[in-house]
This record gives sequence, C-alpha cells and structure tokens, in this order.
Amino acid sequence: MIIKILILISYVIENIFDFVLVKLNDSYVKKPLPENVKDVYDEAKYNKWINYRNDSKKFSAVQTLVSAAITLALFIFNVHARVFNLFTFNKFVNYILLILVFTFVSTLISIPFSYYSNFVIEEKYGFNKTTIKTFILDIIKEFVIGMVLMLILFLGVMFLFEKFGNWGILFTIIAVIAFNIFVSLFSMVFLRIFNKFTPLEEGELRDSLKELCTKYNVKIKEIYVMDASKRTTRANAFCTGFGKKTISLDDNLVNHYSNDKIVAVFAHEFGHAKHKHILKSMWFAFLRIIILIVALGVILNFPVICQSFGFEDVNYFFAFTILTTISWPLSRLLDLVSNKISRTFEYQADAFAANEGYGEPLIGALKQLSQDALTNLNPHPAVVALEYSHPTLSQRIDAIRK
Ligand SMILES: [Zn+2]
Repeated sequence: MIIKILILISYVIENIFDFVLVKLNDSYVKKPLPENVKDVYDEAKYNKWINYRNDSKKFSAVQTLVSAAITLALFIFNVHARVFNLFTFNKFVNYILLILVFTFVSTLISIPFSYYSNFVIEEKYGFNKTTIKTFILDIIKEFVIGMVLMLILFLGVMFLFEKFGNWGILFTIIAVIAFNIFVSLFSMVFLRIFNKFTPLEEGELRDSLKELCTKYNVKIKEIYVMDASKRTTRANAFCTGFGKKTISLDDNLVNHYSNDKIVAVFAHEFGHAKHKHILKSMWFAFLRIIILIVALGVILNFPVICQSFGFEDVNYFFAFTILTTISWPLSRLLDLVSNKISRTFEYQADAFAANEGYGEPLIGALKQLSQDALTNLNPHPAVVALEYSHPTLSQRIDAIRK
C-alpha cells in the first residue's frame, strides 16, 4: 500500500512541478522584451501572441487535469490489473491485448483534445490548414505505426528479460539501441507515410543550395520540398542522414521566405553537419536508453511494485507504465543535460553560418520564423534550461552578432 501511495504522490508532484514552470513563464510575460527582439512583433502581433498564449494555456490546463484524473483513477482502482485478468490466452497474446486496449483507449481520449487544438485554437490564429480527412488519416496512421513499433519493442524486451533474467538487461540495452538506430536510419520512410516529398524544382534556390553543398563538401542525395502546408502555416527545414544527406524544406519556407534567408538556414544546418552533431547527440540518447532500461530492471526485480496495483506477479507493460510515471525527476535531469548540449550545438551551428557571412540573413530568417509561429520571446531562464533545445531568439541574435 505504501508503495502505491508513494507512486501516486510522485505523479501528483510531477504535475505540480509542471504547473510551477508555467507560472514562472507567466511572471516573465510582464517583463520588458530584450532590446534585440523588440521589433519582432508589432503591437497587433504582440496582442495576438498574448491571446494565443492565454488560449493555449487554458487548453493545456484542462487537458492536464483530465489526463491526471484518468491516470489517478486507473492507478487507484487497479484498472490495468483488472483488464489484464480478463484475458485468458497465452502470456504473449494477453500482453498484446493489454497493450492494444490501453493504447486504443488513450488514442480515443486524445482525439477531442487534438481536434480542439487544431480546429479551434490553431484555426483561430490562422495556423491550421488540416482538413478533417487529413486529421482522421493521421490518427489512424499514427495508431497503426505506433502500435507496430511498440509491439516489436515491447515483446522483444519482454522476451529478453524472461529468457536471460538479469543478463536480459544487457541484451535489452543492445536491442533497444539497435532498434533506435534502425528507426532513425529509416526516418524518411516514416515521414513519407505522412507527407509528400517532391524534389526542389530547378532554379535560383536549388542552384544556391547546391553551391553551398559543394562549398562545404556536403554530399547530398536530394533536396526535397515537403508539403507541410497541408497541415499548418508554420515552417521548418531539416538535413538528415549519416553519410549522404537528405535536405528537406517545407513548402511554407519555399513559398514565403526569401532565398537568402533559406540559404542562411542551410548554412546553419551544414554547421551541424560539419560538427557531426547528429552523431554526437546519439551518444547521449544511448546513455538515456541505458539508464531507463536499468531502472526498468530495478522495477522488475521488485514484484511488490506491480503487486501493489493488483497484479499477481510482475507485469512488463505495467512496469513500463510505472517507470514513465516515477522516472520524471530522472527524465527532467537528463533533459537538463541533453538540452544544454543541444543549445551548445545550436550556437556552434549559428557561429558556423555567421563566420561564413550568413549572420544577418540568418537573423532575418529566425525573426520571421518566430513571427510566423508566435513564439515566446522572453521565456523564464529555468524553463529554457529544462525545456528548450534551442537558445531563445534574443540569445541567438546576440551570439550571432558577436
Ligand atoms: Zn540547428
């Protein structure tokens, strides 16, 4: 009983912690903006940002409360164990059904929230381009892909733990890292399920980007335009791949940003490539996997944890649920380190672009991206430290000008 109470308390503290972060950010909204970003929003845009922020905040407060109430009810009434005990097939089939039921129900619960976020809030501020058809197809695709990946991962982990006892931890770590590499190698395959990629048409922009590739000796497979505008007005770009790179630009970027800004964004991306940032951040991701699997091993070694929630013995799926519930201080700590590393990499990529003479157009691009996405120009430093993978706009501008 005491274990159950401690786990419930940990969950409640996590939610309070998140609430405190929101309040900290609130306290910074009233402060004057840093000098170098004062011109990003005019008065109308600034008011729009304030309203957008308030609407999003109210929405996420409701969402958090509903999800907390459901989670607490599931834990208090031992719902996981009750559902699991309904199945009387062999062990693997029972697990598959348990995962299926909980993933399906959580997807169902998330639909009204996702609908409201897209078709009410994002719509109101002009971000939404999604049609009901795309919206429904996305939910189905995400569910099927998520389910397949989760079952492969989960049943694999369970098999290794069952077969090799505590040695299973080591094999599981190797298997999950391999799985992680597999998913990142085929990231384009997954992206293509959701988006269309067409090669960037011949012309000035393509020539400039190719020139940039030659100049910095970056070998590319193809430069694509992604149809992001079928969902949103926001813009993004990425450069992926370990050897030969695949470059992708959102159509929103191609259609609404000047060529010199887009080229500057890619000078930044090539900065990442030059410093081998993708490879370097993978090491930290592996460390994270190792820590979490060892923690899972610890939970599995104490059957009393699962038993205090109504299970007769250890349950792998539930152990994993508990892990994600109680490991939040550890996850926050790991985020703190990984975000710090990521922000350092962003500064390095910006510095690369600035040294190559793309500083001012890069600043122009970053400002326009901020305007278009209505980003927070003055977040609280604690929130930045914990949650920001990129430095704030003001910090980046300062660093680029230096
Ligand atoms: Zn970057």
